[in-house]
Amino acid sequence: MSEDVHLKSSVGVIGAGIQGVCISLCLIKKGFKVTLIDRDDPGKDSASYGNAGHFSSYASVPINRPDILADIPSMLLSSTGPLSLKWNYVPKMIPWFLKFIKNCSRKNMMHTAKYMHQILDLSLLAYDELFEDIDVSGLVESKGIMYFWTNENLKSRELENNIRNELGVKQQLLTPHEIHDLEPHIKKIYHGGVLYPNARHTRNPGKILLKLFDLFIKKGGCFEKQNVQTISFSSDNKPVVKTDLKFYTFEKTVIACGAFSKKLTDQVNEKIPLDTERGYHVHFKGHDYLLSRPVIFLNRGFGITPMEQGLRVVGTVEFGGLNNPPSKKRILNLVNNAKYLFPELKEYQDEWLGFRPSLPDFLPVIGPSKNHKNLFYSFGHHHLGWTLGAISGKIVAGIIAKENTNLDLSPYNSSRFS
Ligand SMILES: Cc1cc2nc3c(=O)[nH]c(=O)nc-3n(C[C@H](O)[C@H](O)[C@H](O)COP(=O)(O)OP(=O)(O)OC[C@H]3O[C@@H](n4cnc5c(N)ncnc54)[C@H](O)[C@@H]3O)c2cc1C
Repeated sequence: MSEDVHLKSSVGVIGAGIQGVCISLCLIKKGFKVTLIDRDDPGKDSASYGNAGHFSSYASVPINRPDILADIPSMLLSSTGPLSLKWNYVPKMIPWFLKFIKNCSRKNMMHTAKYMHQILDLSLLAYDELFEDIDVSGLVESKGIMYFWTNENLKSRELENNIRNELGVKQQLLTPHEIHDLEPHIKKIYHGGVLYPNARHTRNPGKILLKLFDLFIKKGGCFEKQNVQTISFSSDNKPVVKTDLKFYTFEKTVIACGAFSKKLTDQVNEKIPLDTERGYHVHFKGHDYLLSRPVIFLNRGFGITPMEQGLRVVGTVEFGGLNNPPSKKRILNLVNNAKYLFPELKEYQDEWLGFRPSLPDFLPVIGPSKNHKNLFYSFGHHHLGWTLGAISGKIVAGIIAKENTNLDLSPYNSSRFS
């Protein structure tokens, strides 16, 4: 496609989380006229603001794996563990759970691992390209990400390590002594660990998102703070986006509303089984000096990242939909777990609940709509949507610009659910 045609094409992007902002920026760099729409200020309170800030390029082993099914009952019963349910939502989630169980075979796990690896492997390079134009000094650190565990939790580690070795992911197994050398402030409760040396983290995801957004505006992008109600199509197949206040007709439209995307995809007759894994964070202000890099304590399934806001303690997979109130118990679970590792922690601040957009096969939906040639999707990046922001932006912009790619994009297509 020539530059001239791009200049004439208008694209509406719905959702200004990390997906929507990266897509908008990549499109505007290619000469498209882009309008980004969000019901809120960019990144405010969304998953893209409150996440753990990991750029987890190594994390290709999915949650849908054969050994998880046996672990679920004990995880649900544990008061220190990561998993919880809002019982009023369980009936609504049964179809999702059934699809999830189907995807826990070794074959399906390896399919997800292969195609997550395909995009995770390119994720850091894609961010480097976007970071060329903004100042991220002091905001992105390359010190790796460390996991550790006790002897109770060794079985599933072997499976992960073997798959990562197969995929060529760089990992360094750690002795307790090495863990202590890397992070001397953590209480010595661990028996082993692993460092992913190529992983990075940000000290403030919200700030990076805003810098990318500001660059988009500087390059001529338009932002509309409006709530999108419906998507329909004109007689010549152009998407018509109706907000609370206005109608917009674009040549092309991208839905990038994270866990909230299903409301819009249902309207265009796609049966995409998107749901949410709710997660929480709290901050211990002024204590970020206790860690040099993000750490994850696998037995209790939570992580801590040193951030500008202090130590950000992040975790929980709570199945409870988009409308249930936050659970105080989950917040206390995080607080107690953090104090277990760092007994000097006292008061915490900023209780936050966020929505991971998750599909039962743990692959995102990236690409064109099954039913409408001018409608595109980028959502469902579950625990890895922050890591995959820039690469998804690059892929979606490439598809809309009709560029050739060496990547096999078919596994991310929404038609896999038909
Ligand atoms: C606790 C937690 C920790 C995490 N940690 C990490 C991590 O360390 N690394 C990692 O890679 N990933 C992490 N994730 C996952 C990651 O945060 C998400 O996958 C990612 O942020 C999703 O980005 P998104 O742009 O798709 O959605 P969101 O960030 O949710 O943005 C969606 C946007 O769409 C807007 N919107 C929704 N509906 C409408 C509508 N009808 N009209 C207008 N606007 C609308 C919303 O206002 C929002 O701004 C974590 C998630 C959680 C919850």
